[in-house]
Amino acid sequence: MTSFNAVFSSLPVTVFDTMSQLARDTGAINLGQGFPDDPGPEDVRRRAAEAVLHESNQYPPMAGAAALRAAVAEHYRRFQAVTLDPEREVLITSGATEAIACALLALLEPGDEAVLLQPLYDAYLPLVLRAGGRPRLVSLTPPDWRLDEAAIRAAVGPRTKLVLLNNPLNPAGAVYGRAELEGLARTLAGSDALLVADEVWEHVVFDGRRHVSVMSVPGLAERAVKIGSAGKIFGLTGWKVGFVCAPAATLRVIAKAHQFLTFTTPPNLQAAVAYGLGKDALWFDLMRAGLQAKRDRLAAGFAEAGLTPLPSAGTYFLNVDLAPLGVTDDAAFCDRLVREAGVAAIPVSSFYAESKVTTAARFCFAKDDATLDRAAERVAAFTRRF
Ligand code: GLN
Repeated sequence: MTSFNAVFSSLPVTVFDTMSQLARDTGAINLGQGFPDDPGPEDVRRRAAEAVLHESNQYPPMAGAAALRAAVAEHYRRFQAVTLDPEREVLITSGATEAIACALLALLEPGDEAVLLQPLYDAYLPLVLRAGGRPRLVSLTPPDWRLDEAAIRAAVGPRTKLVLLNNPLNPAGAVYGRAELEGLARTLAGSDALLVADEVWEHVVFDGRRHVSVMSVPGLAERAVKIGSAGKIFGLTGWKVGFVCAPAATLRVIAKAHQFLTFTTPPNLQAAVAYGLGKDALWFDLMRAGLQAKRDRLAAGFAEAGLTPLPSAGTYFLNVDLAPLGVTDDAAFCDRLVREAGVAAIPVSSFYAESKVTTAARFCFAKDDATLDRAAERVAAFTRRF
């Protein structure tokens, strides 16, 4: 018998792909995997089309097209008031998942500890394990998913190579502001740990919030490996254009991993993202306002049906507390919901490796109003049976 790598051979297919496939097979409304049904900004898509027709389709530079690296640096100067050297501190990747893989493979040595906060995006743990890292899990809990300083302090030790933070936090919809990040800086003071910050939802924050990047917080900036995603910024999730920003010495080694994972990223998409990152502040405000209205619409639909939506300060996601329905197994609930009610959602337990929260379901609200209304009606009819 051939034996394969233990980490990958023991993994299930990701819950996102599984649920999307189930939704396709059953004809269900797919509020599972997070992607908008809006086609995305036409000018950005047009720029990609122009580039594929009229510009080079050969390998761009390994670290990313110069125009995009400059646009990333300029974007964060504008939105985070930070100064980045586009040539030494910015790397373009084929999506944020590749960026995370590059960072973990490049930074971890076998035996190094990585502090992971649960709920955690499903790629983190297998990638830490594949890199030989030893996970130290810290659990955050609903409804406010507070960054528990004492628990993080207890998990950080002399073998900690890095802490992995997702802010805004998928699936919780929590957004950590300057005060919480300064608390994290105090917690990490005196440690050499790097801070890998998955900030892909940075522009998708609501109720007047503004994202605070770890790059702008003293005590975190020097240790920060910031990851961003054009897919999330422009609602073009299939494009898979991500970026990493880090101090030059750290970025250089992450680029060594990137050169053997994907090497580069399609040049037309890089050109279009460079263009899009230059959009004026109004575009970002309108994008946020549109999504906030959808969040409110779905939350109102659920609340009217007697369900208990949890707060969502950012991301495309709204969680429903299933405990009041007497549900203790969110995975079984979501399986029945897609098959019997025709609505796909993601069980929040799939974002935990241990000590799971098993009483919440995550719904993506980046959909047409009619789709949201129909989904809320179906969920309401289904849960009336509980
Ligand atoms: N980030 C998306 C979500 O949380 C999933 C992305 C993927 O399926 N790789 O729904």
